[in-house]
Amino acid sequence: MLQRPKDTVHEDFSENFSKALLEESRKDSCESAPAESSFRPCLMHRRSFLAGTLGLMAGLFCAPPLTASGFGSTACAFAADNTEHADILAEYAARLQYHMENNGDLRLPALSARDRRRAIPNDNRPPARRTPVTTLPPNSSALEGVVRRVHIESGEKVCALTFDMCELATTTTGFDADIVIWLQDNNIPATFFMGGKWMRTHERRVRQILRDPLFEIGNHAWAHGNFALLSLKRMREEILDTQSQYELLREENIANAGRSGLGESLPPPEALRLFRFPYGRSSEQALQLLNEYGLEPIQWDVVAETGGNNASVSRARQVINKVQPGSILLFHANLVPRGSFQLLRYVATGLQRKGYRFVTVGELLALGTPERARDGYFEKPGDNAELDKRFGTEGTGR
Ligand SMILES: [Zn+2]
Repeated sequence: MLQRPKDTVHEDFSENFSKALLEESRKDSCESAPAESSFRPCLMHRRSFLAGTLGLMAGLFCAPPLTASGFGSTACAFAADNTEHADILAEYAARLQYHMENNGDLRLPALSARDRRRAIPNDNRPPARRTPVTTLPPNSSALEGVVRRVHIESGEKVCALTFDMCELATTTTGFDADIVIWLQDNNIPATFFMGGKWMRTHERRVRQILRDPLFEIGNHAWAHGNFALLSLKRMREEILDTQSQYELLREENIANAGRSGLGESLPPPEALRLFRFPYGRSSEQALQLLNEYGLEPIQWDVVAETGGNNASVSRARQVINKVQPGSILLFHANLVPRGSFQLLRYVATGLQRKGYRFVTVGELLALGTPERARDGYFEKPGDNAELDKRFGTEGTGR
């Protein structure tokens, strides 16, 4: 089989990933229209909005009188003649059934198989509260650089799966529900690095993830700002707005649990403690800020997705071969790279066959000694610096 030369993998990734983000930006350009025209979306939006609405209506109107198992097959006439909608209903039925059978489980059923991109109008307003209530003690280890992997003294085969949910100021990206559901169904822990703006455009999804103790959430800046380019003021905003947005959603979950009388048996942490630099780009000033705000900069030593369609066994093999005890793998769960879900399945099951178990990044840090670099990179130091020329003057697409 023809193998891609090793040293082009990272170029492929950064090239294609940035192209994909820019592409999203362009598609979403009609969302930057003034507020008064926000109810006259472009054709693409109307289509995705209609699909989402039909799925939601079908769920709302058909679910109560039907049992979960009969739901997908009986369904509503308007959905049955559309394969895509029928799939959404079947997925919803399966999740609903799962939820019913696991009464008391913290997980919530998903409404649809995946949230489509551009279903939600782009919204770049800051969060409702801009100063986080919880402040963490300083973390001086951030001054030593970003964590690329963790050295595991015993050599135990343990690694961390991480998923970025990146979103530029000008873009609304997606949510790969397939990934989250598969991780839940297979009881695999994971860490999600969420952009603060992404959290707000996917509030319900974040609140679902927050309720599941299998998962850990980290800060991935507000609008994917490039910390090698941002002013000190903007860096602070990117960090703190995301901390605040997390707090708001956490508070909402706890308030809802109180109202329902169920209580929050295992409330999520009060503040995010991990931070991932967008594009892996950092600076001395940025590390000092993370120290000040008590955050730990977490990178990766294994890039999972590359350019093109990632749903291939050969790509999975390349990824698996790079993993060693203490590795941190970088995936995306925002539907920007293609084939992330299939690649995850191949990689995770392949690693399990090799004897690996998965933990969150927080757990991995406690198992060994972090290995750090001054600045982040994909596969070779400096290989991400070329991204400074894209995505606007501060990297957020503005
Ligand atoms: Zn990102």
